[in-house]
Amino acid sequence: MYYPEPIGRLISELTKLPGIGPRTAQRLAFYILERPAVDVERLARSLVNARQKTKYCSICWNITAVDPCPLCSSPYRDQSTICVVQDPRDLVAMEKTREYKGVYHVLGGAISPLDGIGPEEIKIKELLHRLQGGKVKELILATDPNVEGEATAMYIAKLVKPLGVKVTRIAHGLPVGGDLDYVDEVTLIKALEGRREL
Ligand SMILES: [Zn+2]
Repeated sequence: MYYPEPIGRLISELTKLPGIGPRTAQRLAFYILERPAVDVERLARSLVNARQKTKYCSICWNITAVDPCPLCSSPYRDQSTICVVQDPRDLVAMEKTREYKGVYHVLGGAISPLDGIGPEEIKIKELLHRLQGGKVKELILATDPNVEGEATAMYIAKLVKPLGVKVTRIAHGLPVGGDLDYVDEVTLIKALEGRREL
């Protein structure tokens, strides 16, 4: 009610973004108003484009502009090793190490009974489907080093081991309770190198 209606609406939309409180939303809104119209149009277009022109890879469930994603269709990646991560940001963290040459499976979360997230809510069924056919030799479980991530790793290990696929868990030394995508690259490389078989 303090602002003209279009500005009020902009502030209210910005407030819905993670980590953006009312004060930040207000600051961003006024910043946007002061930008040249062409800059604002470019920003608006990039938001719509990012949403419209991306989808999930039908193999690994990473965010991609083409399906299958460039990693799944790359002849330079070892398609017999799958690194299982919780979300696309974890995949990016792993890629930044430049050490890992296999492919990925993005679960889209972790098992968390308290939040009502069971195995059915994340892409575990899809992972098992990928293991049929016997081409996959190793599964590296790189879920977050917290309670939910551990529970998810254990759940997957139990399902997959009888299939004769080697299952490893990235080493600890990762900060417990943390988020994989906040871990620095050196720590992540060490964790990958020190993975142990489950
Ligand atoms: Zn893919």
